[in-house]
Amino acid sequence: MPADWTADEIRRVGRLVVDLIADHLSSLPREPVFRPVPPELADRLLSTPAPLDPVPPDEVLRAFQDAIEPYPFGNGHPRFWGWVNSPPAVMGIFADALAAAMNPSCAGGNHAAVHVERQVVQWFRDLLGFPASSMGLLVSGGSMATLTALTVARHLACGVDVRANGLRDAPRPFAFYMSSEAHGCARKAIELLGFGSGSIRTIPAGADYRMSVDALEAALEGDRARQVQPIAVVATAGTTNTGAIDDLDAIAGVCRRHGVWLHVDAAYGGPAVLSTEYGDRLRAASRADSVALDPHKWLFVPVEAGLVLVRDAGAMRSAFSLVPPYLRTDGSATGVGGPPWFSEYGFQQTRGFRALKVWMAMQQFGLNGYKAAIDDNIALARYLADRVRSAPDLGLMAPPSLSVVCFRYLDASLNGEEAVAALNRALLERLQLGGEAFITSTELRGRFVLRACIVNYRSTHADVDRMLDAVRAIGRELVAAGPP
Ligand SMILES: *Cc1c(COP(=O)(O)O)cnc(C)c1O
Repeated sequence: MPADWTADEIRRVGRLVVDLIADHLSSLPREPVFRPVPPELADRLLSTPAPLDPVPPDEVLRAFQDAIEPYPFGNGHPRFWGWVNSPPAVMGIFADALAAAMNPSCAGGNHAAVHVERQVVQWFRDLLGFPASSMGLLVSGGSMATLTALTVARHLACGVDVRANGLRDAPRPFAFYMSSEAHGCARKAIELLGFGSGSIRTIPAGADYRMSVDALEAALEGDRARQVQPIAVVATAGTTNTGAIDDLDAIAGVCRRHGVWLHVDAAYGGPAVLSTEYGDRLRAASRADSVALDPHKWLFVPVEAGLVLVRDAGAMRSAFSLVPPYLRTDGSATGVGGPPWFSEYGFQQTRGFRALKVWMAMQQFGLNGYKAAIDDNIALARYLADRVRSAPDLGLMAPPSLSVVCFRYLDASLNGEEAVAALNRALLERLQLGGEAFITSTELRGRFVLRACIVNYRSTHADVDRMLDAVRAIGRELVAAGPP
């Protein structure tokens, strides 16, 4: 078959692909949430060399159906609540194929994909209360969004020409501020930016797992007195561990008083600005200098889709812009060059048409559809927390916030923290491998806990009941079997 397929062949194979998509999504609820890849299959995949000659598409699709589709990550299933991973919006799935059919680079230019990304960014400005003069980009996820935002903060605040000289001539030491509950990507970004994780001031979190604003203020004042240069405060709007939302309004006030950049990590919780319960608290993200939000989490856009918004568009451009002669355009918004290039505002040059799947998923749901799905997930998490509270053999381990519930299995025979942790570790592994439901774990104040994060428009009360029944059945069995 030649590289350039006929329309008929594209249609024939495309229909097979659509059947695979429909079968996958509709059969998931009847399948185990997770089953590990059999070692023979993993070995076979690893030992099969790249094909020398073309393989017929029917054969390729058969291999997908036999060896790949049966071993999903688990998300997409109504009882998958691990990490922060959602099922995909169907229009987002199709959008990925359509985007690939057009296959533009969204570095810039005057083609439709660029204008779709501009539109999507505008939708998020509206959602988060950012001014039209701010700038935004779609990136791979919250990690890239945070790295991008903190790069702009560094450019403005480090006091030297960091693009020319790096940090070596810096007159003063630097500091970043985030709570003990901040996502690891902020630390990774600070390490990559050359500050070193030693520059992070870890601000304690209270019993509600929110950053202590008084401790933040004290840390900033202490550093000011010691001639340490603050670069940025990272507040979290929906921590990964417990869903806690830092007091954005108070923190924005502190940052304004100290003239410090405020980055709000709303990768997980940002979309809940649409929710009935958390809308008010999250609207204060509009006071930030930058925000990260992941459409591939609670907006059900297929991975990867992250978003960064930066209030000061000029600073963002001057932190990143480098236009060699082979990229220079006429600068005319109506010509080939189009509006200022996205590649001047971030690290990537060739950029995929991520915007289409965001654009299509947002139309599939509409803001009202998202609000309903998010409100539902929050209510479902509340139901889960209530059931945990009323069960004698379960303990709620953190105040539920957004759609995260942390809990564990308890039994009077378990003596001490170590025994409880060991039992819950074993329980979780058996639950995950059993395929009935999939949750994950975390550590809260050094204690191992089970963690469910419901960002899933397919989940129901019956699913929560089934997960808890499975947890308790496994817990009882393990307790009866005694310590390992
Ligand atoms: C998921 C998450 C991130 C990281 O985002 P990626 O999309 O995985 O890169 C950052 N912060 C929070 C709060 C998150 O939940």
